[in-house]
Amino acid sequence: MSDDTKIWAGGCCCGAVRFEIGAEPVLLEFCHCQTCRRASGAPVMAWAGIPVAGFRFTEGEPGRFASSPGVTRGFCDRCGTSLTIFSEAFPDEIYVSTSALDDPETLAPEVHIWTSHKLGWFETADALPRYRRFRADEV
Ligand SMILES: [Zn+2]
Ligand SMILES: [Zn+2]
Repeated sequence: MSDDTKIWAGGCCCGAVRFEIGAEPVLLEFCHCQTCRRASGAPVMAWAGIPVAGFRFTEGEPGRFASSPGVTRGFCDRCGTSLTIFSEAFPDEIYVSTSALDDPETLAPEVHIWTSHKLGWFETADALPRYRRFRADEV
């Protein structure tokens, strides 16, 4: 990466919560888990794992919800957009919804995780690696 740390910006649907990413992602993934599906109301979510020091909210404060033990999801408590996941199991990273970026095309997912929860009617035409649970469990 160059000296100019790339800044990706994004935010929720209503604009009340905005964020910036100033560090290269460590992981880009589709997550098919049931909790992402419920939290987003969509068949799958796309996440970018960002070093915590490289992420900040620049406008508003997200609502927070403990979706599993040790896992906190951030969302706009006005419009409901899913924005982040922080897991105590991965304390150096915060996961940011790439679909909430102003330019989501720039951070394409590289793996599928939790395919054990994938909906039968949802399939993507890509050749990316697929993991039944977390990538780390099966590498
Ligand atoms: Zn909002
Ligand atoms: Zn998930």
